[in-house]
Amino acid sequence: MPEIVDDKKTVPAEDLARFDVMLRSAGRIVAFTGAGLSTEAGIPDFRSPGGRWSRMKPILFQDFLDSDEARRETWRRRFDMDGEMRRARPTRGHRAIASWIKAGKSPAVITQNIDNLHQASGIPDDAVIEVHGNTTYAACLDCARRYEIEDLRGSFAATGEAPRCDGCGGFVKTATISFGQPMPEIAMQRATQLAKTSDLFVVVGSSLVVYPAADLPRLARKQGANVVIINREPTPGDRYAHLLLRGEIGDILGNFVLESGAKP
Ligand SMILES: [Zn+2]
Repeated sequence: MPEIVDDKKTVPAEDLARFDVMLRSAGRIVAFTGAGLSTEAGIPDFRSPGGRWSRMKPILFQDFLDSDEARRETWRRRFDMDGEMRRARPTRGHRAIASWIKAGKSPAVITQNIDNLHQASGIPDDAVIEVHGNTTYAACLDCARRYEIEDLRGSFAATGEAPRCDGCGGFVKTATISFGQPMPEIAMQRATQLAKTSDLFVVVGSSLVVYPAADLPRLARKQGANVVIINREPTPGDRYAHLLLRGEIGDILGNFVLESGAKP
């Protein structure tokens, strides 16, 4: 394991060189991304100290189902962050990960982010495994009909009421997984399978505290993958890493854009 000095911002050159070798020699890279990847895009890490969720109590899924006021508050919060969501563009980190997929070295990316920035970086929808869903659109909880956020805004502003489905009257909610809502089964199965079959598993900007996704680095390592964790802060998963790169994610990953056709 490399020596990591917490107060040192620069990642040692030999660690970057080790990552370069791992990346180029890997046949099946799987990246697992979290909030730290998108902060450079202007999307706050809601869970971080001082982040939105440390100041506002999360709304539990059951409360959303049970209470008109909880549904209104959920939508108020969603529209409050809409400016940040719409302005956000993929970062250097997103572009590097997209290049691994485009180069044919990586089948898919697993993400805890709900901001759609992997898709915006050019990765096809079916190669983005979203374990916490997606907040850039909404769906009816009963019939799954899709709704665009933009189309819901007007009636919310006019009536102050949370949207209901035109088709079946069900509750309309952003396509995210709320606290207390079951994890999306198919996405979790695909994520687990990808972790187990990767030969290089790269955690990017996840604090690795939200289970079951936080267990993926352990699974990957157990199946023989090299595990690399890129994050500003230490994580509980660090003990499963062969290499820790601690610093600004964009600064680090900006060095690792693969050319298409770079397959060994
Ligand atoms: Zn419906």
